[in-house]
Amino acid sequence: MSSLYLLLGGNLGNRETFLQQARERLAAAVGSITACSKLYETAAWGKTDQPAFLNQVLALQTNLLPEQVLHRIQGIELDLGRERIEHWGARVIDIDILFYNDLVLQTQRLTIPHPQLQNRRFTLMPLAEIAPNLVHPVLQQTIAKLLVICDDPLKVSVYQE
Ligand code: ADP
Ligand code: MG
Repeated sequence: MSSLYLLLGGNLGNRETFLQQARERLAAAVGSITACSKLYETAAWGKTDQPAFLNQVLALQTNLLPEQVLHRIQGIELDLGRERIEHWGARVIDIDILFYNDLVLQTQRLTIPHPQLQNRRFTLMPLAEIAPNLVHPVLQQTIAKLLVICDDPLKVSVYQE
């Protein structure tokens, strides 16, 4: 069994319903969910002329290898009707791999840990809620510490308990 952290995000349609459907499909296709953060709301990152994002971080236990996880989460994104209109553009669901055990991996298709997680408050806040003492295997800092030193100016607020 491997320990997996995923970031879910979406800013189109009924955002809570898409997140819930993503959790159900992940539990069926990737592994059991051992922790869920609250939902957090953030103004869109990179582009500001689109609806606000809802984000959530999940911890899972999985028997899959990282490439298999990527394949399954991309299938779920497609199933839930994601359209790749533009980079950083609006989408109903985006699922990113944050950590896989303490694996450090960089291939053409996959970078683990997620290369932007320390720069994004919308990732660090939900992650710090469920895994404050997790140590980033490259940066060698806890998530709680990475959140304290993060200078992302975008405001993130708890959307729903
Ligand atoms: P983004 O998440 O940056 O908004 P996409 O979801 O369209 O954009 O992902 C683009 C590509 O990022 C995917 O096709 C995937 O191969 C690659 N990728 C690299 N590292 C990761 C990761 N840790 N989690 C998810 N996708 C990743
Ligand atoms: Mg993605």
